[in-house]
Amino acid sequence: MYACGPTVYNYAHIGNLRAYIFEDLLKRTLLYNNYKVNHIMNITDVGHLTDDGDEGEDKVAKSAELMGKTAKEIAKFYTAAFQKDLKNLNILPPNKFPKATDNIKEQIALIKKLETKGFTYKTSDGVYFDTSKLKDYGKLAQLAKQELKAGARVEMGQKKNITDFALWKFSPKDKKRQMEWKSPWGLGFPGWHIECSAMSVKYLGQPFDIHCGGIDHISVHHTNEIAQSEAASGKPLANFWLHGEFVLMGEDKMAKSAGNFITLNTLKEHRISPLAYRYLLLQTHYRKQLSFSWDALQAAQNGLNHLYNIVKSWDKAGVGCAEYEQKFLDAINNDLDLPGAMAIMWDLIKNPMYPGSSKRRTLLKFDKVLGLGLSKIKRGKISVPAEIQTLIAERDGARFSKNWHKSDELRKKIEAAGYTVEDTPEGTKITSISSS
Ligand code: AMP
Ligand code: ZN
Repeated sequence: MYACGPTVYNYAHIGNLRAYIFEDLLKRTLLYNNYKVNHIMNITDVGHLTDDGDEGEDKVAKSAELMGKTAKEIAKFYTAAFQKDLKNLNILPPNKFPKATDNIKEQIALIKKLETKGFTYKTSDGVYFDTSKLKDYGKLAQLAKQELKAGARVEMGQKKNITDFALWKFSPKDKKRQMEWKSPWGLGFPGWHIECSAMSVKYLGQPFDIHCGGIDHISVHHTNEIAQSEAASGKPLANFWLHGEFVLMGEDKMAKSAGNFITLNTLKEHRISPLAYRYLLLQTHYRKQLSFSWDALQAAQNGLNHLYNIVKSWDKAGVGCAEYEQKFLDAINNDLDLPGAMAIMWDLIKNPMYPGSSKRRTLLKFDKVLGLGLSKIKRGKISVPAEIQTLIAERDGARFSKNWHKSDELRKKIEAAGYTVEDTPEGTKITSISSS
């Protein structure tokens, strides 16, 4: 499985991270079904330009210049930040994180192969892939009913066709680039698409099974990966393609370039844990867009707290609930129906026929896919902070004076803070507590 990784010039935003959580859910589902998964995720540390049409600046080099650092320092810093995000989101690490700059030789070799087969031409600023030479160029986008947007916003320049794209870009004559390499065509650097074609085949062979990424990759990046790889070898690049939908900010896609993005750190400042974000994503199918809202995130945090509370109140894992395990398996194997799987989980939690010990066993199993960290939630006594104690006391008072409306409101407040209230003959019992 090959997943297009981050361009390491800034922090990943939660839209980017949705793509990696979707891939993690796919990988965990395959592992749950006893497949072995070899998961490769590249790190783009050169060649991704600010414009998809092969114009503009290198994103990493530009960020380095702005921050007064070297491109290497920038790439190292944001790669580490990205890997920390993956860990916080409980995303299983890929088997390898190959870097574009460590695979220049392989990229040059692939371009040479394309040149030998007559798929390339040279302009004054680089070596280009001639898309008119490939009869089924753009077939992925056609299948997905997407328009080919490559190059649509830029001047044709010396390109022969609007969809042609750079394989190798020449260093500018008047300016030394931080990242440049010698090649048979001159000093320069690789185009963004060629790195994925070179690294996927190096680590996985061709064709490999699954290629994934965000939905925006269909019309340009993946279309061009397919063109290069298939032109070079005459074989399909991958057997299956899966793409995750966007996180939207209002009407628009969350994007670094639009400046409307939110990172995991911003979530933490709002007391939303990374796993609450994961919980939120589990409730929307990967092929559906998700509109960002703080209310939805808060509801996810409350839901996760509530889940932890309940798990904490259960006995040690006993015999599982086979009936629910089958339903869960059917849901995840139905095109990753995680929202369905979550509903099945809550259905089991609420089912009085099964003891807590059975529910714990089964939820631990589910969590191999969900990745919500349930195995860390042990049965235990809970400590209740002063502000919650005050709410409980107020609610006891409301109940005493038979003010059921107020008592209900207070219960909701207590639950939103992650505590579960139970009224027993011995008095109010707080059964469990949040954990994040
Ligand atoms: P980048 O670092 O820009 O190459 O993007 C990394 C991944 O995030 C790619 O798979 C993109 O398709 C994906 N992506 C970018 N923006 C969004 C968004 N708003 N929602 C979901 N995925 C996104
Ligand atoms: Zn890629």
